Amino acid sequence: MSLCSTSAGFELDELPALSRTAVPRNDFLRDNAAELARMWPAARLLPVDRRGRAPMGRSGDMPVLDFRATEGTTPPADAVLLGEQDGVCYWAVRAEPDGPVQEGMGWDATLPDTDEPVWQDLRLAGGLLSAEDAGLLTTAVAVLSWHDNAGFCAKCGSRVEPRRAGWATHCTGCGREEYPRTDPAVICLVHDGGDQVLLARQPIWPPDRYSVLAGFVEGGESLEACVVREICEEVGITVESVHYLGSQPWPFPRSLMVGFSAVGDPTTPLVPADGEIEQARWVHRDEVRAVLAAGGTGPGLILPGVTSIARRMLESWAKT
Ligand SMILES: [Zn+2]
Repeated sequence: MSLCSTSAGFELDELPALSRTAVPRNDFLRDNAAELARMWPAARLLPVDRRGRAPMGRSGDMPVLDFRATEGTTPPADAVLLGEQDGVCYWAVRAEPDGPVQEGMGWDATLPDTDEPVWQDLRLAGGLLSAEDAGLLTTAVAVLSWHDNAGFCAKCGSRVEPRRAGWATHCTGCGREEYPRTDPAVICLVHDGGDQVLLARQPIWPPDRYSVLAGFVEGGESLEACVVREICEEVGITVESVHYLGSQPWPFPRSLMVGFSAVGDPTTPLVPADGEIEQARWVHRDEVRAVLAAGGTGPGLILPGVTSIARRMLESWAKT
């Protein structure tokens, strides 16, 4: 068996929605308090709530981030510098919604039908935002979520303080520095080398919702080994020809989804993992194409939302 193949089968035809980015992060500014203070009055501030929602207006049918003007003379200590472009700094702060909020969460939500700014979920709106806005909001959700869950030093337990414009914390007890953390997870489109793809559903998902398989990388494990282990654990088959496709940050709260394809034998019986996978089945390319052509929802099969890397993988495979 080959653990890593160079024979692709297919590649991603576009970047995943949240992997798009356009505003430079400009790391060199993070330590320059004087310059950040000088630029603060003209900076644009993005409030983001704990569910990953930010206020968005719209331009035509597309959502656009509704940045706020800054107040005061210097950035607040808990603000995160997202980047700088054309002399304008972009910052994010944790905030409670101060206007209407989108109902539902993630792929269950619906886009608002109003011209007023609405606090919308990155998981739904991310695929519709511009590259600039998608990159800024994804970064904001990721780094603010890290601060929510990293208030105390992992070494001595003392309270930590933000540093480097939100890109580090400093322990008030032992001086330990920490940086935003990301948990790698693999996500793999398993196909049969022909016209069938393996889709599965978790018991907590809405009826008919299916996706490709995914799982967290364990300590001491390579991404490729994780693909083989997770698929075997979840559906009982051993895949080969593991091939890297691309990655996407998924800051809910702090994953990096690393996408792969792999080849499995459809004649091997599927054994869904108890409690983790409710059902797994091979689906023909024609059925996937028909559901995608209908916007992602078809009879007995609902595919992942447009913001997910899973959707990008399925669309790319379906086109080949
Ligand atoms: Zn400490």
